[in-house]
Amino acid sequence: MPDLTINEFNGKYRINDFYRPIAEKLVHKFPELKHITVASILFLDNTEGSGKSKDKIRCAQIGTIQEKWSDIIYQFTGKRFDYFIEFFRQNTERLTKEQLITVVYHELAHIGTDGNIRHHSIEEWANIVAKFGPDWLAPHLVIPDLLEDGFQWDGIQSPNLFSSIDEQMINIVKAAVEWKQAKENLKSVNSADELITSTLAENSAEKQLINQINQYNASIKQTP
Ligand SMILES: [Zn+2]
Repeated sequence: MPDLTINEFNGKYRINDFYRPIAEKLVHKFPELKHITVASILFLDNTEGSGKSKDKIRCAQIGTIQEKWSDIIYQFTGKRFDYFIEFFRQNTERLTKEQLITVVYHELAHIGTDGNIRHHSIEEWANIVAKFGPDWLAPHLVIPDLLEDGFQWDGIQSPNLFSSIDEQMINIVKAAVEWKQAKENLKSVNSADELITSTLAENSAEKQLINQINQYNASIKQTP
């Protein structure tokens, strides 16, 4: 059986099995990923792309490999791949090991139990936001190692607890995004009227955010 890679290939998309053992350990460790067959994933480095989509910069993306190409690769290699995870090297180079592991977790979590790619309603999975905060990819931020012994998602043991925290986290993140937008709007006012309206909007967005955080804090105290 021919090997999947040749040495010294300098193209844009390069197969990189560096990520495979990380994915295997994550799938082995986290019950929410246990339906995933890592052998069916092709890991690629995109060495040139910026990973920009709309105004967001992505570190990686996952997709399905069309049956036609899956069959063709199988005939060349004897290996069948149904998904690819593509890492944008320009953006992953600066990440810490822990951030990179979390990126791999994030992409794996896109594979639903039915095998289809599922999407998150906000920009991130709620458990990641709840544990690491919305800016977990910020440069040099120290975050926990998902693969360290003893690491567990807080609160994920109880489905009820998790879903309510899940929803409240989403509300907090949404409120934070709105407040940030309101602050941005304040910078571009052109008249006294606009200044008043934008200031009021900014105040109300801030109150909304504080409100959401208070609700969240109150609900954790209630949980036994
Ligand atoms: Zn995603």
